Amino acid sequence: MRILVVEDENVIAEAILAALATAGYIVDRATDGEDAWFRAGTEDYDAIVLDLGLPRLDGLTVLRRLRAEGRHIPVIVLTARGSWMERVEGIDAGADDYLPKPFQMEELLARLSAVLRRVAGHSSSSLQIGSLHLELRRQAATLDGRTVDLSALEFRLLRYLAHNRGRVVSQSEILEHVYDAAREPDSNALEVLVARVRRKIGADKIVTRRGQGYALEG
Ligand code: CA
Repeated sequence: MRILVVEDENVIAEAILAALATAGYIVDRATDGEDAWFRAGTEDYDAIVLDLGLPRLDGLTVLRRLRAEGRHIPVIVLTARGSWMERVEGIDAGADDYLPKPFQMEELLARLSAVLRRVAGHSSSSLQIGSLHLELRRQAATLDGRTVDLSALEFRLLRYLAHNRGRVVSQSEILEHVYDAAREPDSNALEVLVARVRRKIGADKIVTRRGQGYALEG
């Protein structure tokens, strides 16, 4: 899952980036509203964490523009402490959730996980796909009750496929949502990754649709 964090204050932004990366998300940062608007238009994010007080273009305007274009990407807004006006405006503008500053990173992680699950149409913090069970918060997986030893990257692949189960996910989409942009993998690397995960959870679980991509069965 690729998340855009829009926050102009470095200390807060870096804490959020570190927490999200540790939780297994791919994270990009924008430092002002124009940058956020540009990135949201050029990259396909799974969610946006959006500070409202931003230079150049304020967060509310970014959010209103997204919704005016009919884009339903989940957005969590960060509001100034005690500013009920910001909360009301954020929700009116189409925010999925809000978090007043200062906040605990655990709370941001829980809310982010919740909005991502709502979008995917399920509400618990774990996913059951046939005999495969994913614990989203702990980044852990079991198969028929036995722990599956997965690397962070392998878990990200499974989680992305699980969130999108029932449809074929293209290679380029997986590269964008599962890999860190800094690493620039190619489709060969992806095939190797899929093969590795198949060995761990069973070859029949991830189906290849030739020329289209992959789908999680179950
Ligand atoms: Ca700010």
